[in-house]
Amino acid sequence: MATLTDKKRAKTQSIGRPAAELIFGDLWAFDPAPETADPKLKARYDLFIGGKFVAPAAGKYFDSINPANETKLAEIAHAGVADVDAAFVAAQKAFVTWGKMPGKERAKHIYRIARLLQDRAREFAVAETMDGGKPIKESRDFDVPMAAAHFFYHAGWADKLDYVAPGRKVAPLGVVGQVIPWNFPLLMMAWKLAPALAMGNCVVIKPAETTSITALKLGEILQDAGLPAGVVNIVSGFGDTGAAVMNHPIAAKVAFTGSTEVGKIIMRSLAGTEKKMTMELGGKAANIIFDDAPLDQAVEGIVNGIFFNQGHVCCAGSRLLVQESVADQVLAKLKQRIKVLRVGDPLDKNTDLGAINSKEQLGTIQRLVAAGVKEGATLFQPECKLPAKGYYFRPTVFSDVAMSHRIAREEIFGPVLSVLTFRTLEEAVEKANNTAYGLSAGVWTDKGSRILKMSTELKAGVVWANTYNKFDPTSPFGGYKESGFGREGGRQGLLDYCKLI
Ligand code: NAP
Ligand code: MG
Repeated sequence: MATLTDKKRAKTQSIGRPAAELIFGDLWAFDPAPETADPKLKARYDLFIGGKFVAPAAGKYFDSINPANETKLAEIAHAGVADVDAAFVAAQKAFVTWGKMPGKERAKHIYRIARLLQDRAREFAVAETMDGGKPIKESRDFDVPMAAAHFFYHAGWADKLDYVAPGRKVAPLGVVGQVIPWNFPLLMMAWKLAPALAMGNCVVIKPAETTSITALKLGEILQDAGLPAGVVNIVSGFGDTGAAVMNHPIAAKVAFTGSTEVGKIIMRSLAGTEKKMTMELGGKAANIIFDDAPLDQAVEGIVNGIFFNQGHVCCAGSRLLVQESVADQVLAKLKQRIKVLRVGDPLDKNTDLGAINSKEQLGTIQRLVAAGVKEGATLFQPECKLPAKGYYFRPTVFSDVAMSHRIAREEIFGPVLSVLTFRTLEEAVEKANNTAYGLSAGVWTDKGSRILKMSTELKAGVVWANTYNKFDPTSPFGGYKESGFGREGGRQGLLDYCKLI
């Protein structure tokens, strides 16, 4: 029997010892839990122009593959210049009535889109996961419900546009050209369509080549919602299709979400024209942990910040800035946490990290990680089995990173975290702002005053406090510096889709 003195001794010895580690690994193997809803995929997807699905004029199609197993999912139409032109003409024609329709009537259409999307939520979630590689728990619990939320929110605005700019009247711009990326295909579509439609604009939109399926499936919903023909036109294709959309003479405004590199090409080609522009571009966010932060919660925030959607997130917390006094502790906790992340089949409900979106993107991640090793940073990757087929990458943490390293400066757009340290608040601000980007940041501290100071000093469109990657349709999102300009969401997002009269 242990004596009181033994117990006391044991208690004293436990102080300062590292926390007990839960060993999962093979002992805790999960049974497979695949999502089985039917994504109702078609063998071939045509363009959605003038309210109908039509074959591309040149008859060209390309394959969309499932990055989780490299199998072909469907053929997607490749829109050429003639198709993009037909889409703009259809949109211009539709604008004559849609632009003048009373807001409360437009609201009904947008509301119906949201409801129909909710009705088909599981089908859309499975299609999104198969086409893009993201874990089903994310497409099911985040992408699809958030896309519906954007339509609901903007349906609510459509008959209240007199309050968008108090004291002023607003009017739609006309036809808007939009191009979106592959990381949140359906959600980006909702971010773009909902405010444009609520304001009375008509749209020509191009999804990304690797993830066009849910965009074209949304065309089916637009038909079912009775949206007048031509109000939304969906032209799938490659970069050439995107360029044709951005440069079309009928476009009164262009809205682009994608890389800073392509954003600059578009801005150069549109310089000197009358077109309005919004640019949602890349990022290299700092997630900043002060020593008074609740560390276990912060570790969850770090994991969510960089491993959500395999790190294919423009606002990913890809640079971890941690106060020196707690750096070792945070890094140790982080490594333990990462060991139990489940990487693999995106359709499995227990998967935390799914497939990398494309072979090309996997190559970019591998190149930048190799540069990190070469430049002298210390690499940590948990030992986890990756599926034999498909594009996968282990969650990766680099410590001993210097500000000059490529992994600290360039957007990796993958599950790779670079850890840097700081001593004072001033140093944290200087390091966080020392980047060409300015999309988002995170601050973890117990002090409200410090949160307010940091959110003022950080040059980032969004600053999260004691949380990360939180989104809401009411909250404007957008960048500073090379992360772009213009806002999406909230009243500010609507202002980017109207003229003041
Ligand atoms: P990307 O290469 O710039 O592509 C974005 C879109 O532009 C795609 O639909 C692409 O078509 C199209 N495109 C390519 N070249 C074009 C051209 N010359 N003219 C017009 N369109 C063209 O970017 P990505 O790799 O798909 O997406 C990742 C990037 O998006 C990251 O940098 C990320 O940070 C950024 N992003 C930003 C936000 C934000 O809100 N700030 C949100 C999400 C993502 P193809 O797919 O056919 O090449
Ligand atoms: Mg695909």
